[in-house]
Amino acid sequence: MTTNTPSNDAFAIDLPAVQMHVAKPDQPIIGKVVRSELCTLGGKKSAGIVRHVEIDISGTLMAGSFRAGQSFGIVTPGLDKNGKPHKVRLYSIASPTGGEDGSGNILATTVKRVHHELDEDHTLYDGVASNHICDRQIGDELRITGPNGKRFLLPARPAQHDYLFIATGTGVAPFRGMVRELLDSGIDRNVTLLMGSPYESDLLYHEDFVKLAQEHERFTYVTAISRQTVDGRPKEYVDGALNRIADNIKPSLLSGDLLVYVCGIAGMELGVLRTIATMLESDPEALAGYIDCDAETLADRDSWDRRMIHRAVKPTRRVFLEVY
Ligand SMILES: Cc1cc2nc3c(=O)[nH]c(=O)nc-3n(C[C@H](O)[C@H](O)[C@H](O)COP(=O)(O)OP(=O)(O)OC[C@H]3O[C@@H](n4cnc5c(N)ncnc54)[C@H](O)[C@@H]3O)c2cc1C
Repeated sequence: MTTNTPSNDAFAIDLPAVQMHVAKPDQPIIGKVVRSELCTLGGKKSAGIVRHVEIDISGTLMAGSFRAGQSFGIVTPGLDKNGKPHKVRLYSIASPTGGEDGSGNILATTVKRVHHELDEDHTLYDGVASNHICDRQIGDELRITGPNGKRFLLPARPAQHDYLFIATGTGVAPFRGMVRELLDSGIDRNVTLLMGSPYESDLLYHEDFVKLAQEHERFTYVTAISRQTVDGRPKEYVDGALNRIADNIKPSLLSGDLLVYVCGIAGMELGVLRTIATMLESDPEALAGYIDCDAETLADRDSWDRRMIHRAVKPTRRVFLEVY
């Protein structure tokens, strides 16, 4: 996993204080599944299986302890192939800070079932924790740790910024919570969510985001479909879609008001940073607010690779990365 490791403090953003590790792996709290449903646009026809799962944690140490953008851990019962307890797997909280109920008693997450064919004998390996969560029925228990994370958060003073959230797959989970929190707060700021998926049927919470965009003038919802042509638009990744909406985003980048959040498949951040670099190439001062890199590296951006991020290509504190 890569999280934000900012290059310097010049563009530091005040973040709220958070609680962490209230429930530790040796003493997880017990939550109860209260809702579990597919959240792909295509439902059962979608290529991937992704479920929206809500968990009641009322009466536990973790009730009211989390903020949007944090994650929590799942302790799966049983032992791994070495006879050791399964390692904790992390899942993003998909709820606003107040949870689904407004009081921090019900948290949601967005879980993709992991399946993987083993090369040697073609047998199917099922991911341990993702399938454990998705197999639970209403009323079943889950062992939960956390909360985790202190950087991938909304700022302490949200009304001072505009927001660009860029997600692939279940990377949209924290943004479901953050977007709702910002829109519910009534701030008069631009909020853009750019969601990428291979097929339109794999889009997550699509109908909810379309509805939010209809209800909130300053919320823009954009999709990038990479393996299918939709409405005559060519196939594109999130960086292509970002380039498509560059004119809408650029004023906020130039003023430095924009906070950029990227969450999802490891590697997606490269194209996003490259596109921002291209958008701000003619304004080095504005670019320095988002990416710290020298002129030679900037000119050679077509050959950037992931290993350069946080080294030669350093996102500033206005860029929040969580890729896994
Ligand atoms: C901060 C953070 C937030 C996250 N948020 C989310 C989220 O909101 N939603 C979400 O779905 N995921 C999220 N993840 C990913 C999640 O933590 C898990 O990594 C993911 O669900 C897979 O876990 P699993 O136990 O199902 O699979 P695992 O059992 O861990 O297996 C994962 C893969 O490892 C390989 N593998 C493991 N064991 C073997 C073996 N014995 N033989 C061969 N191959 C093997 C396989 O390729 C398999 O596909 C997040 C991760 C991080 C770090």
